[in-house]
Amino acid sequence: MPTTPAPRTSARVTVTRFAPSPTGRLHLGHAYSAILAHDFARARDGKFLLRIEDIDGTRSRPEHIETIRDDLAWLGLAWDSAVIHQSQRLPAYAAALDQLRGMGLLYRCYCTRAEIAAASLSAPHGAEPLYPGTCRGRSDEPDRLYCWRLDMAAAVARAGALTWQDHGRAIPADPLATGDVVLARKDAPASYHLAVTIDDAWQSVTDVVRGRDLFAATHVHRLLQALLGLPTPHYHHHYLLTGPDGVRLAKRHNAPTLAALREAGVEGRKIAAELRAGRLPNHPAST
Ligand code: GLU
Repeated sequence: MPTTPAPRTSARVTVTRFAPSPTGRLHLGHAYSAILAHDFARARDGKFLLRIEDIDGTRSRPEHIETIRDDLAWLGLAWDSAVIHQSQRLPAYAAALDQLRGMGLLYRCYCTRAEIAAASLSAPHGAEPLYPGTCRGRSDEPDRLYCWRLDMAAAVARAGALTWQDHGRAIPADPLATGDVVLARKDAPASYHLAVTIDDAWQSVTDVVRGRDLFAATHVHRLLQALLGLPTPHYHHHYLLTGPDGVRLAKRHNAPTLAALREAGVEGRKIAAELRAGRLPNHPAST
């Protein structure tokens, strides 16, 4: 007698990720973000993934990857599935670039940083200058290095009005405010925007838990999802930890690294408990 197949459940498995760039040591702000993403998944019986965003070959260091693993283990955070390294995923980014190029949405940009800064005097203090579109419509120049930029106005016209969810609230996507972003760099075959969008979809990430410093980037990611036919996760941008002076930990030159705390004999699980309770751990090594 044939056996009846088990009924299929359509329950959506929650998948979150922590996606550090191994360009330096992690600090308490990273720990906070990793804990929130980890706990979000665990509370829903979901999966928590670790993705190493090491496409920046000049700044990424293998020793930082090792330290990241040690830091997470020290905090008591375990990840599911194999760790993904973006440096191993370059063909996937190249295929997406081809797709966008085929849609006529990319152009070569030969500008140097100094040229862009000089042409974008209106950039608010500290902000990346908005690219003024100098190379849009420029003819190809053989033997010169270039990056690929997204023609944002054309991309937005093609995708139409979009929204995404942050903490369950619908946010109208406003990628125009970011200008013609770089999707493949002169020295790297993909930019952060492209790689993160493709990998969140490829890893079936349902919920992106990350700091508010990446809120603006989400407008671009939502647009890329629409152009490339990828699903849109739910976003949960969290507040950033600041020191007693109100300055973001990431911006403080003396913010303690997790490795320094670990080496000073501090217990990672206690640090994690304090962060979960919303307290910035106060330890001699962290001042
Ligand atoms: N790799 C990025 C960073 O370290 C974070 C990427 C993300 O969470 O979307 O800032």
